[in-house]
Amino acid sequence: MVADRPTDSTRQENNNTDVLDSTRTVIKTALEKLGYPDEVYELFKDPIRMITVRIPVRMDDGSIKVFTGYRAQHNDAVGPTKGGVRFHPNVTEREVKALSIWMTLKAGIVNLPYGGGKGGIICDPREMSFRELEGLSRGYVRAISQVVGPTKDIPAPDVMTNSQIMAWMMDEYSRIDEFNNPGFITGKPIVLGGSHGRETATAKGVTICIKEATKKRGFDLKGAKVVVQGFGAAGSFLSKFLHDAGAKVVGISDAYGALHDPDGLDIDYLLDRRDSFGTVTKLFNNTITNKELLELDCDILVPAAVENQITEENAQNIKASIVVEAANGPTTMEATQILTDRGILLVPDVIASAGGVTVSYFEWVQNNQGYYWSEEEIDEKLHDTMIKSFNTIYNTAQTRKIDMRLAAYMIGVRKTAEASRFRGWV
Ligand code: GLU
Repeated sequence: MVADRPTDSTRQENNNTDVLDSTRTVIKTALEKLGYPDEVYELFKDPIRMITVRIPVRMDDGSIKVFTGYRAQHNDAVGPTKGGVRFHPNVTEREVKALSIWMTLKAGIVNLPYGGGKGGIICDPREMSFRELEGLSRGYVRAISQVVGPTKDIPAPDVMTNSQIMAWMMDEYSRIDEFNNPGFITGKPIVLGGSHGRETATAKGVTICIKEATKKRGFDLKGAKVVVQGFGAAGSFLSKFLHDAGAKVVGISDAYGALHDPDGLDIDYLLDRRDSFGTVTKLFNNTITNKELLELDCDILVPAAVENQITEENAQNIKASIVVEAANGPTTMEATQILTDRGILLVPDVIASAGGVTVSYFEWVQNNQGYYWSEEEIDEKLHDTMIKSFNTIYNTAQTRKIDMRLAAYMIGVRKTAEASRFRGWV
């Protein structure tokens, strides 16, 4: 599992744009447009609970390394909070807060009985052994066990975490709780109560959004040129689905570089060669940079990596006519404005990537009822949810003459705002 440090670091590290400030600005505008008083914004601008934990882990060389982790619970007026845990060297407290706000919006948009939550640990899993990762995952659960649980806050996978990590976390929680508790976490392996379709859910949701967006723009996905930034759980499955739908995937990337072929890349070969963290470009010599990748000639661009990739520096150079955000927060506020002014259809993260939490909800429901659905049933439910949510946001944006991000925020924030008011909080 040991890997070199990413060389193309400027595109994979968060730049100076503060994602929490940007999110707050859009939330404020959305609440104002909906006519809510300032108190609602005061409550929503930060999570209701934010904990920092220190996790000592015995490393393979015998030393103890202490990691820092976070768990943010944005608002639980609607129901328990819900959201993934990321393992990444650039995790920050403000980022985790912003990510928890985005989860509130996603849950509101696809109408789940949840508020938003998020967790993160500052670490580089690419440089850790299996055993060290297990120690870290279990240590994190021990540290947050008081404030999480199937009716309180339900974690899930995110950047560089996967079903194995969910399994360790579930096992640790079940030990603490002294009974088998699969509903504590989603994104588990199927044999431990995971759901069919969860692993591919984010990518499937993004694919549905891309198909709807191409319909709105009057062109066919078949034959369309697509660039996907990031080859993790979202980007890799997405490339496969688009390739299978007849699109030409002309560019992909990972943290180390990017690959380009104007005639379309051999996606099946690349999927076969990627490691569990989505690294594949190191096997090739003729790579381009992530910066070059984003500016490639294409019809559809899908940032599926980390935050702040499309900024005011490169937004003018984007060639795609549709940008669909599979990552959380890949486009800055300034870049959103530039892309919108240029007539580019920007489908925001809070709807485009909501397929993951939607199927996580189905997983939790199945765990609670102890009765499991087939992959076909899950797919159908996901499809209906995504189509309905996409079109509600698209139509709201058209009618109100606003961009899809603001429309999505207005729709996403409403449920939690109403619930907070009914409860008498604001
Ligand atoms: N980490 C994913 C997200 O950002 C999924 C969260 C979940 O399944 O709860 O939407």
